[in-house]
Amino acid sequence: MLKVEHVTKYYGTILAVDDLSFEVKKGEIFGLLGVNGAGKTTTFRMITGLLDKNSGTITLNGKPIDYSVTDKIGFLTEERSLLTKLTVKEQAIYYGVLKGMQEQDILEKLDVLLKRFHIEEYKERKIKELSKGNQQKIQFITSIINDPDLLILDEPFSGLDPINVALFMDVIKELKEKGTSIIFSTHRMEHVEMFCEKLVVLVRGKSVLSGNLKQIKKDYRKKNIHIEAEHMDLEKLKEVKGVLEVIKTETEVVVKIASEENVNDVFNYVKKCEGVTKFVVEDASLNEIFLEKVGVMYENEM
Ligand code: ATP
Repeated sequence: MLKVEHVTKYYGTILAVDDLSFEVKKGEIFGLLGVNGAGKTTTFRMITGLLDKNSGTITLNGKPIDYSVTDKIGFLTEERSLLTKLTVKEQAIYYGVLKGMQEQDILEKLDVLLKRFHIEEYKERKIKELSKGNQQKIQFITSIINDPDLLILDEPFSGLDPINVALFMDVIKELKEKGTSIIFSTHRMEHVEMFCEKLVVLVRGKSVLSGNLKQIKKDYRKKNIHIEAEHMDLEKLKEVKGVLEVIKTETEVVVKIASEENVNDVFNYVKKCEGVTKFVVEDASLNEIFLEKVGVMYENEM
């Protein structure tokens, strides 16, 4: 288990991470979210021991981060850091040996992973000859070749097409099932909603929202109602108690309401309308929650 407790980091006078605490348990997928400059990469560098913190503690399975522990951590960095003149096989051996592995074990593991990522044919190819997406697959393979207890993925999906995003997610879920703790950063909230269980949102290095994703969505009072009807007076709908916004799309009307208690008010209006074929209440998306939390934080600082 990874434990980050009251960690603070300054670069000179710039406060990059401010009294941050969170835990990632065995087999958990944890999202570290925030806008550019929020402190995500700095946090990852401190967890991997690449950067010293000013205060606080970070432990993996109860031990402070040092060389004996970093062998058990895999890190996919944001600035892609492949040795592009090497072949895929040479790169895997280089990193595997750095993580304390035997060459034979590295090669066996590499074959399995190249197959899993559908790129067996690139084993003897130089990395600079591969496409960007395939280079990212190699970097991902490199970061998990040592079967890490903790896998850190800084923007793992950036630059990937949707098919490869799905492939990366499948592999990440398989690692979770095997008990790997996974922590990743992204700007894309829909990726978080697809497979993340717990998260923390950083604004200027400080946590402004944290916890279990399902609980966060449940606790957020605003809901969205999706309605399809032949005829509906949208101006009247806007006047219904608790309605914050009415959005008409090509196929439906989305009504944003202040709280679950207003569902009945909207329903009482909609049931009087003609040809209603859909009335579905959904939690707000994580993107909406993120925009509100982060937006309010910035407004308060203005
Ligand atoms: P992004 O999403 O853009 O990658 P991030 O959330 O990873 O951003 P960090 O790179 O951790 O954010 O940066 C946090 C803060 O620390 C920012 O204000 C940044 O300008 C500052 N910072 C980062 N690295 C350094 C450095 N080497 N020297 C000085 N300040 C730095």
